[in-house]
Amino acid sequence: MKRSQYAVIGLGRFGSSLAKELIKLGYEVLGIDKDEEAVEEMSDELTHVVVADATDEDVIRSLGIRNFDCAVVSIGDDIQASILTAILLKDSGVGMVVAKALSELHGKVLQKIGVDRVIYPERDMGIRVAHQLVSPNLLDYIELSKDYTIAELAVPRSLNGRSLKELDPRARYGCSVVAINKKNGVIIAPTAEDMVEERDVMVVIGTNEQIETFENEVI
Ligand code: ADP
Repeated sequence: MKRSQYAVIGLGRFGSSLAKELIKLGYEVLGIDKDEEAVEEMSDELTHVVVADATDEDVIRSLGIRNFDCAVVSIGDDIQASILTAILLKDSGVGMVVAKALSELHGKVLQKIGVDRVIYPERDMGIRVAHQLVSPNLLDYIELSKDYTIAELAVPRSLNGRSLKELDPRARYGCSVVAINKKNGVIIAPTAEDMVEERDVMVVIGTNEQIETFENEVI
């Protein structure tokens, strides 16, 4: 199977971290930045690097970006450059365009020009950290919809050796434990007899309210 190829445009803090992680995951990454120093810093890390201004149509064409599976625009402060680059990439026919937005308005414009996925790293990280600060046992979560969430909850010492039957989250709180991540492996769809131990991670699905009550009363 052909390995996916990614182009990352803008090798600032976000772009370089994303690009390095894609390499770690085994994909090919072309990094582009107009700043020579930023490119130099990544030259040993990525499959290819190029010093170029991505707002130049010839650059996008000559680098053959349209043959890539996905291009990520991670240009920060320069909103105009971010939007121009995103338009050129959409026009190029590249498989998928992802772009980082610095504000809601920036994101709206990116969406209007057809960017396939707009990401708000700082806004989203702020929200995530706030949730973790108010719920110390909440390790991570995915919002399935406005109301439903999957949350990873750390099991405290007080629950050591308790079975799911004893905790009974479904009958008492309406949320379900869909997996227990243990040191030696993950139990998917655990049964009532499965027990939790300190430092296990429970993966719980339910409404935000159900999970919050479960967390406050049990964990
Ligand atoms: P971060 O917050 O992720 O660090 P920055 O704004 O610091 O974001 O980084 C954005 C990167 O995008 C910088 O390295 C900058 O040189 C690069 N960049 C900005 N405009 C262009 C452009 N037109 N073409 C290519 N790279 C660009």
